[in-house]
Amino acid sequence: MIHTVTLIPGDGIGPELADAAVTVLEATGVAFEWERVDAGERMIAQHGTPLPQGVLDSIRRNRVALKGPITTPIGEGFRSVNVALRQTLDLYANVRPARSIPGLKTPFEDVDLVIVRENTEDLYGGIEHRVGPDAAESIKIITRFASTRIARYAFEYALANGRAKVTAVHKANIMKLTDGLFLESCRDVARDYEGRIEFEDRIVDNMCMQLVQKPGIYDVLLLPNLYGDIVSDLAAGLVGGLGVAPGANIGTDAAVFEPVHGSAPKYAGLDVADPTALILSGALMLRHLGERAAAERVEAAVRGVIAEGTTVPRDLGGSAGTQAFAAAVAARVPTLVGAA
Ligand code: NAD
Repeated sequence: MIHTVTLIPGDGIGPELADAAVTVLEATGVAFEWERVDAGERMIAQHGTPLPQGVLDSIRRNRVALKGPITTPIGEGFRSVNVALRQTLDLYANVRPARSIPGLKTPFEDVDLVIVRENTEDLYGGIEHRVGPDAAESIKIITRFASTRIARYAFEYALANGRAKVTAVHKANIMKLTDGLFLESCRDVARDYEGRIEFEDRIVDNMCMQLVQKPGIYDVLLLPNLYGDIVSDLAAGLVGGLGVAPGANIGTDAAVFEPVHGSAPKYAGLDVADPTALILSGALMLRHLGERAAAERVEAAVRGVIAEGTTVPRDLGGSAGTQAFAAAVAARVPTLVGAA
């Protein structure tokens, strides 16, 4: 079977990471047909928008995409293409695993967290305006529908992946109505899983402190959009940094796999960026496509090359270039046949 996948290389370091990820994914022997489409700032001159209709059409047609990071101007300019993709395609679940990699020294051991972030509402609606010259306001939207849907996703994910506990993260002590509704929805869903999946909740500031003190006691974290964004970078930091943090945006009709990190423009074109996060996002995609053994081989190959320590990217303390690291991982993938 050939999997047709929309490939969006993205901005900054995105294109070189996409080349690296394709090299590794093709080494699995799984047959891919890559439908390459471009989004981002460079598209505005040609299409009048950073998110051309052809990109959305391609993802809708193929139902699956592998995506590099896309730059979003800060404080002005066009709205985030990443957010627009998630909202337009209703990719409501943002799933970001953070797992320690043997041989990669961090202050923490045995971290194995999965962030499940609501991906369509909260402050990401971008409903904000200036109130006169010296004030601005932004509207935070939380609905029972979206909160219940993401909570159910988190519990079903926990069941399907042998996880024991879901922790809902909120600030319902202060935002009693919005975060209060999120928490109430999580509690309602948790009742359906009583006796099968443990449930607890934490206030987000306390959660951040606890994650850097005792990350090992947490399992699946369930968060509204903004806290999910922030806490997933924190979780990435626990296991080696943004260079190794993969992600998935899952909807009912389509799924887009992309790293947690951004376009890191200062490294663009230098062959120094770490492709691990996009390669591991590709492994999440393989699993989504039903290619579980291939996904496990990609993950094992990445971990094996990092543990061996001779061909390691710069952000992980080595000196290997982007493509050299990808080549080392790709070379290891076929040797793991049967090992998964
Ligand atoms: P960033 O993730 O690009 O960079 C943060 C830090 O991590 C930098 O020091 C960077 O060099 C490092 N880093 C990130 N990825 C790396 C990799 N693969 N290998 C080695 N080092 C890596 O975040 P930023 O600087 O805040 O954002 C840059 C741009 O990316 C902004 O325009 C932002 O809006 C965009 N962004 C896009 C996405 C996305 O496409 N989903 C996500 C986050 C940020």
